[in-house]
Amino acid sequence: MRLLKEKIKNEGIVLNNSILKVDAFLNHQIDPELMMELGREFSKRFADKKVSKILTIESSGIAVALTTALFFHVPVVFARKQKSSTMNENLYSTKVFSFTKNITNNVAVSKKFLPPGENILILDDFLANGEAAMGLVDLVHQAGSNVVGIGIVIEKSFQPGRKRLIDAGYQVESLARIKAFEKGQIVFADDNE
Ligand code: 5GP
Repeated sequence: MRLLKEKIKNEGIVLNNSILKVDAFLNHQIDPELMMELGREFSKRFADKKVSKILTIESSGIAVALTTALFFHVPVVFARKQKSSTMNENLYSTKVFSFTKNITNNVAVSKKFLPPGENILILDDFLANGEAAMGLVDLVHQAGSNVVGIGIVIEKSFQPGRKRLIDAGYQVESLARIKAFEKGQIVFADDNE
């Protein structure tokens, strides 16, 4: 998606060989017009999926999940990172290893908001190793619902997440795909022109 790639090129900061900082429009300050365009694009790419609910993870997936949900006219649920791993019978929970923070979070969603039989679209801001996305898939399966696709704002294609999700049988739609960071510069994968 050209608009997103321009934004990443102009405002993204390559922190080291594997982390991109996009605090200027996605992870701290949020660009609402851009979020609307990302939502529009996701709604086109998953138009045939009969999406009934969108699931994301706090906090950086929420903005784009909301704008996408506006196009589908469906609710958004975000999985919450929990302080303790205490079992709670009203929650579905799973463990997600955080690539950027190097810790494992317990991630949970209320059973009330994730009933069985839904067509769930999973969205997140970044795809690295696929931990967050696979954790969300696990929550959907615990609920007895169906994952209809996985939408990612920025995919780092040089990390294993995409392959992992495709191998598990999911349609993965990434709006910007980064092939490499070379000397602090961002190289996009060509199939995303
Ligand atoms: P994964 O779970 O696929 O290993 O990593 C994706 C999650 O880690 C995303 O939810 C995102 O919060 C975070 N993440 C992974 N790579 C990056 C990155 O390069 N920049 C930022 N800002 N977050 C990242």
